[in-house]
Amino acid sequence: MRMSKLYMPTLREVPSEAELPSHKLLLRAGMIRKLVSGIYSYLPLGYRVIRKVENIVREEMNNVDSQELLMSAIQPSELWKQSGRWQDFGPEMFRLRDRNDREFCLGPTHEEIFTDIIRHEVKSYKQLPLSLYQIQTKYRDEKRPRFGLMRCREFIMKDAYTFDRDEEGMERAYFEMWKAYEKIFTRCGLDFKVVEGDSGAMGGSDSHEFIAMSEVGETQIAYCPKCDYAATDEKAVCSYDIHEEIGEELEKERVHTPSIKTIDNLVEFFDIGPDKFVKTLIFKVKDEVVAVCIPGNRELNEVKLVKILGVPEHELELADETIIKEATGANVGFAGPMALREKVRLLVDSRVTRMKNFVIGANETDYHIKNANYGRDFKGEVVEDLLLVQEGDKCPKCDSILKMDRGNEVGNIFQLGTKYSQALNATYLDENGKEQIMFMGSHGVGVSRTVAAIIEQYHDDNGIIWPLSVAPYHVIITVVNTKKEEQIQLGERLYKELNSRGIEVILDDRNERAGVKFKDAELIGIPIRITVGKKANEDTVEFVVRGKDERLEISSKEAFDKIKNEFEKQGLIF
Ligand code: ATP
Ligand code: MG
Repeated sequence: MRMSKLYMPTLREVPSEAELPSHKLLLRAGMIRKLVSGIYSYLPLGYRVIRKVENIVREEMNNVDSQELLMSAIQPSELWKQSGRWQDFGPEMFRLRDRNDREFCLGPTHEEIFTDIIRHEVKSYKQLPLSLYQIQTKYRDEKRPRFGLMRCREFIMKDAYTFDRDEEGMERAYFEMWKAYEKIFTRCGLDFKVVEGDSGAMGGSDSHEFIAMSEVGETQIAYCPKCDYAATDEKAVCSYDIHEEIGEELEKERVHTPSIKTIDNLVEFFDIGPDKFVKTLIFKVKDEVVAVCIPGNRELNEVKLVKILGVPEHELELADETIIKEATGANVGFAGPMALREKVRLLVDSRVTRMKNFVIGANETDYHIKNANYGRDFKGEVVEDLLLVQEGDKCPKCDSILKMDRGNEVGNIFQLGTKYSQALNATYLDENGKEQIMFMGSHGVGVSRTVAAIIEQYHDDNGIIWPLSVAPYHVIITVVNTKKEEQIQLGERLYKELNSRGIEVILDDRNERAGVKFKDAELIGIPIRITVGKKANEDTVEFVVRGKDERLEISSKEAFDKIKNEFEKQGLIF
């Protein structure tokens, strides 16, 4: 590609709405443009990277005998109603109607559609196991689309679905995908961790997430430095030592606490630690009001809560002022577990039952209650663990101290069991002619998000530093002065020779200042730069690897060897 012809609308200014490096750099390097919130156009350079990632994914899927096909993005509501997810998916689903008023959605994922295809065609155990995938555009009306390609409303996903005779087969397929994903993300150059995930709206049992590490990532994970335990904060078991207090239950006391509502203010007022309080959070869940009691020094894990309640996440809302007043009889800030209105469901984290003489809201404006005790003063449904894990908690496997880290979820594997096959009746006949339900798996890679996750790990102040495996072009030849015939000639010759060897090259043949050319090359992150300048007539060029300080003055032949070297270092074929 000649730079003079390349459509690469770079930006000098950092767009103000962009926070993450990947978002800024994709915009600045002219790789993407926003159409509307969470919806982007992929411009030529950006799309080349997307295609590189897609191809890595494709190769590794094919390697495990998963077969590529392509389904429609438009899906009829009937199938989703059969699985129960037409309701459960909630506002994240883009819905539409055709001219005959039939309901459809823009596919956020494709479990139902793949199951539907299979149930009509696969009838015998001889046709199983089966693994199918597609690389396709998905639609999710995310509550908060943000961070460029990280959280979009339209994005590219690889989704694979496996169909097996039984649980064992499903598990085998799961671990095969696991291995394939490790290869994919390694080939993309990513530093990643595999962690236990919550299966959420997908249903099923086991799930693992592939997290590309990043200090500013959206996903928080807890991991054990001693054993192999690692999980998203949503999933992680929260375990810590609480001082089980012994001694007397003291007489409870109503204390006037005018306008003192937050834990911080209460800590100051009572002059005791936050672990001596119990917070009562009030939620609206469909038509029900649910109060949740947790220790004052800990955070609630809403994913665990919705699981206990058996509702989809979008149906859980923090109660508004009116509901709180109705449920507690007091203004916001004074909710407690005692004397709640009858209809309110009360859940209590198990650790509250082991605390003694703690402070709670009095359900009376401007009052709290001191020396409250579970059992004596209130009772509720005790739930083992409703808490969000935090640094310093105990590893549920080996009791060491957990650490926290951040990253972006780039892939997810799920064991679905029979959730969809049962609902949609995907059955087969076994050797004895007996009808059996299929066991399924669902396995996603966020292709467009992976591109952003790579940039998060590969950039500096000047721009992107693509790993060769996903770079839009491998080499850029920068002709310093296009008015000099010998420079143009050498540049053209190298351009042709590299192209003929299958190397993807940009020839910067623009009539621009050298500084501008170098800046652009760095911004768009081409891994190898060959500069053709003053010594062109001696066949000497400058060789630079993006992100490294070293500049070598070498012959064009040596430059070729160096390129070969770089390819081999990254396990690629020159
Ligand atoms: P998240 O928790 O980030 O919302 P998810 O659990 O909803 O992700 P899956 O349904 O498992 O995601 O989708 C498979 C993959 O698709 C994810 O691992 C992620 O890489 C990608 N993905 C999901 N949602 C988005 C989005 N809004 N924008 C870009 N990529 C996404
Ligand atoms: Mg999601």
